Amino acid sequence: MRLLIVEDEVRLASALQRGLIAEGFSVDIVHTGPDGLHAAREGAYDVVVLDIMLPGISGYEILKQLRRARNWVPILMLTAKDGEYDEADALDLGADDYLTKPFSFVVLLARIRALLRRGRRPRPAVLTVGDLALDPAAHQVSRAGTRIELTPREFSLLEYLMRRAGETVSKADILHHVWDAHYEGDANVVEVYVGYLRRKIDAPFGRASVQTVRGAGYRLDVHDDPA
Ligand code: CA
Repeated sequence: MRLLIVEDEVRLASALQRGLIAEGFSVDIVHTGPDGLHAAREGAYDVVVLDIMLPGISGYEILKQLRRARNWVPILMLTAKDGEYDEADALDLGADDYLTKPFSFVVLLARIRALLRRGRRPRPAVLTVGDLALDPAAHQVSRAGTRIELTPREFSLLEYLMRRAGETVSKADILHHVWDAHYEGDANVVEVYVGYLRRKIDAPFGRASVQTVRGAGYRLDVHDDPA
């Protein structure tokens, strides 16, 4: 069984490699995001152990790109509680399992063996809220089975709202996650895009799932049943 470890902490990666080789695995290690993406794409691995914080390309981006390319190699994410992402994000994006650092080698080994037993299986990780469905890998959105065409920005906005469905998210949160941390333009751009989104996902269906929470932000209603 061939494993790939993508981990920039060289000593940790080497320790894992030694331990896994002792358990009879064939183990390659790479230390950067770009090398990890390349190796995971080109190598025939049975499991990839993927760290999140990597130089060059993050583990999340690698995971996204692999799944978008319909590469279903079982992936075990190594997450750190840095507040930016959590385990739910890893699973939503198509990881098969996750371990939070620090972890014990015995637990890692058990998780790898479990993934090997399960093998590759398509895990499209489609997000659903009511009759809204969003497929991050295929970049498709539908409501009650009807395809909806969104621009990339509208898509990101809806994805963010769906990942936090039922919660009130502030304009600042949305700007930070959907635009980028360094965006310095007018915060009203969020309002404009929420308007675009409503015209595509709500109005044509007689719905009002994207709600304005006065003075606080927006909330995607999880109980917005068809009238
Ligand atoms: Ca790291």
